[in-house]
Parts: sequence; structure tokens; C-alpha cells
Amino acid sequence: MIHENDNMNMQTKPIQDRMFHEMKEGGILEMSQGYARDYLARVFDREVFPTVEALRDLRHFDEELPLEPCDAREVIDQLHQYGSPATVAQVGGRYFGFVNGSVVPAGLAAKNLSLAWDQNTAMQVLSPICAKLEAVVEGWLTGLFELPQHTAAGFVSGTSMATFCGLAAARYRLLEKLGWDINERGLFDAPKLRIVTSEQAHSTVVKAIGLLGFGKDNVEWVDVDEQGRMLPGQVPVLDERTILILQAGNVNSGSFEDFDSLCDQAQEAGAWVHIDGAFGLWARAVNNLKYLTKGMEKASSWSVDGHKTLNTPYDSGIVLCEDREALVAALHMSGSYLVRGDERDGMFFTPEMSRRSRIVELWATLKYLGKSGIDQMIYNMHLRAQQFAKELAGFEGFTVLNDVVFNQVIVRCETDDLTEAVTRSVQEMRMCWVGGSSWEGAKVTRISVCSWATTERDVSDSVNSFREALDQVKGRMATLK
Ligand SMILES: *Cc1c(COP(=O)(O)O)cnc(C)c1O
Repeated sequence: MIHENDNMNMQTKPIQDRMFHEMKEGGILEMSQGYARDYLARVFDREVFPTVEALRDLRHFDEELPLEPCDAREVIDQLHQYGSPATVAQVGGRYFGFVNGSVVPAGLAAKNLSLAWDQNTAMQVLSPICAKLEAVVEGWLTGLFELPQHTAAGFVSGTSMATFCGLAAARYRLLEKLGWDINERGLFDAPKLRIVTSEQAHSTVVKAIGLLGFGKDNVEWVDVDEQGRMLPGQVPVLDERTILILQAGNVNSGSFEDFDSLCDQAQEAGAWVHIDGAFGLWARAVNNLKYLTKGMEKASSWSVDGHKTLNTPYDSGIVLCEDREALVAALHMSGSYLVRGDERDGMFFTPEMSRRSRIVELWATLKYLGKSGIDQMIYNMHLRAQQFAKELAGFEGFTVLNDVVFNQVIVRCETDDLTEAVTRSVQEMRMCWVGGSSWEGAKVTRISVCSWATTERDVSDSVNSFREALDQVKGRMATLK
């Protein structure tokens, strides 16, 4: 503890002395820990979206950059007082928006420790512990997802970046086989590659296609069925110039493509298959849901998030690539990379050089849960999604549009207007949070169960909120008439 006098004294000291003091005895870490504890003690019960007042209080951050250093405790105080209430309670069990995970306690605590380490994960020599954990988790994930033994993993910020890396590896390898070194010669005048993907490919896949210079107009889009799965009969003839991009978990319906037959088709043609499995790849690790991923091991690369279904802290994504050399060549910009002994320099497997140590949280989450914990946690998300769908379908006025095969539910009211108004009203009630989307040309509400913390009670309470919202909106509409 510091006394008032020490504190006064400290404020006249040079900044370096002040910072030594903060690091060693200032108590700000304990203070931030205390606030974090307060936050976690309330977050499971509080309103999911910040209140109007909390949002208004964000004006306290509208200030000029200070001229002088201040007491570090003021900084942390301000964050807790006005920042904590303006967060979305995504850690809790009633956030069903987008596809966003909560956080497993062991992962959070591990991150907390690693914050003090502040490692740079680029190279083994920069951080032996992080290089070790990356190598270990690469092996764990390869085993858990039952992928080919030499599969390489790159630990990136999310599935957007993971997909970008997978497609970069594909581009490298397919062009290399056609006698063209993309790293040396670039894309101009290169043999043309083909991209085949579903009309329902995630927007981040489309972004990666653009970033890699393939051009959205050149994509051969494949029609989908009523669950959003590629219609196998509609897939064009594949060849050795084709990258076929499939989906494990449609972002709306949660449906999975028919990997088994599509991968066979691609393999015969010499095409590359990349699977975007941002949240859905984890079905592979759940006994009762594994059937959804049949044949996925026959692809060449996969992208998956830690921060969605696995509930690691943000940000955490993984690219997995069966063609180790292609991934490294694409990201290292050199064909001369050699695997040197036990060294595994993370930067050869990612676009970035310096990176934070997200591997610590991923390792801790996997280690803590173990195979059966992962299975239980994710299967619970599936059961809660089914509960949500069943309870909602029990009320007149709501129609569930998808087969709830994984964790996603799409629901709709009688009209687009009603659906949108009900979604808004549910958001304003703050019991839960869900977002809108569109499905087969209609407005829908999308529910994604992606938190370890979601209980049966959370789902029932949220369903009640949907029902109240519908009553309210209908009442309002009746008064207007
Ligand atoms: C969320 C998501 C992505 C993008 O992942 P980020 O981690 O946000 O980059 C890609 N594909 C699907 C199917 C997703 O659900």
C-alpha cells in the first residue's frame, strides 16, 4: 500500500522511477484484478447490452491527450467506472449475437499471467515457451481433428486471417505445380487459377479471395440447398487449377457441406480443398456431432477459431494445412525454408512477424478441458440451441427455419417488418442479445449458442423475452392501426 505522502512524492519523480514503482509496488495490477473480479461476479446476471446511461457515460473518454503523466490508478479507475458498464456481456450465457464465444476460466487466467510475460511469439529465440506451446498445440489439434500427421498450424488472429493463409498456401502449391513460382514472379501473367465456392460462403472468404488477387468476378459460385449446403450436382468440373472452398458450419444455419464426396471429387481432379470451419470444425471433437464432418480430413487446409466455439479469449484463429511446405513457402516468402531440429519459429506459419502470445490461452483452454471437457462443453451448446428452437417453435408467431444440427437457430415472425421489430425489441429488453440476418430472401433473427455458460434457464428466460417482444410489437402495431 502506498501512503498519501509517497504518492505526492512520486508525482514529482521522473517517469522511469514512477514506472518502476508501478510495476513493483504500485498496486495497480491488484487493483485491475479486483475490478476484473467485480466484473466477473456480475456479468452472468447483468443486462446483456449496456444501458442507455452506460452508453452516455462513454463521453468521459472524450478528452484531449493529457500533457502530463497521471496516477496510474486513475487510468484503471476510469476504465472500470465507465468502461466496464459499456461492455457487451458476451462472457455470460445470454449473448447469442453473431457467432461469439465466452471465455473458459483457465484460458482467461492463463492470459492474465501471460500479460506479464508480454512475449513476442515470432521466433523460438524470442520466446522458448511460446514456441514450445505452439508445437504442442499443433500436435494436439491435428490429433483432435484427426488430420494427416504432418499438418502444420499457424496461430493467427481469427478465421479471416486463417482462411487467407490457407488460400495463400493453395495458390502457392497449385501455381508451383504449373511451373510458376508466385513468390518470385507474382500474379501478373501467372496461369489462371479457378475458385469454386458456395453462394453462401462467409464474407471473410470473399475478402480473402479479393486480397489474394483472384477477383470476386472470377469466382464460380455454386447453388445451395434449403439448409445452405452446396448442391453437389451443381459443382462444376474440377481440375488441377481449382481451389474448392467448403464450409463446416454455415454462419446462419450451422449446416455442413458434404465433405466426403466433394473431397473425393477434388482429389481425383488434383484440386485443392480449403474448409472454412470457423466455429463448426469443432463438431469433429464431439462424439455425437462428429458425423457432420465426415471426410473433412481429406481436404488440404482448414481454418478454425479458438475464440468462437472453444471459448478462448479474443483474438484466436488457427490455419491448419496438410501441405506444410506450401503453407511455409506462402507465408515465409522463400522456398528455402528447412525444418531445423526442434525449432519451430511461429512467424514461418503466419503472415505477421511479431505476434502476441495467444497460444498461451489456447493451450491452457485445451489442457484444462481435455477431450471430454471439449466434448461436453460443445455438446451443451448444441443441446441449448435445440432447446431454444423447440421452445420458440412452441409459440405461435415464431417459425424456426433451419435444422438445428449444431449451435445455430434461425427464426422468423410472419413478416419481415415484424421480424425486424421483434429483434430490435429483444435487444432493447437486454435479457439477451440476438442479431438479424437474412435467409432465402427473408429477414430472420439469428441465434448462436456459443458460450460454455448458457444454461437451460438462460434459454427459457431468453425465449420469454422473445415472446414478450412479439406481444409488445403486435400491441404497438395494433394501436397504430
Ligand atoms: C466468424 C466466421 C468467420 C470469420 O472469423 P473471424 O474469427 O471473425 O475472423 C469466417 N467464417 C465463418 C463461417 C464464421 O462464422
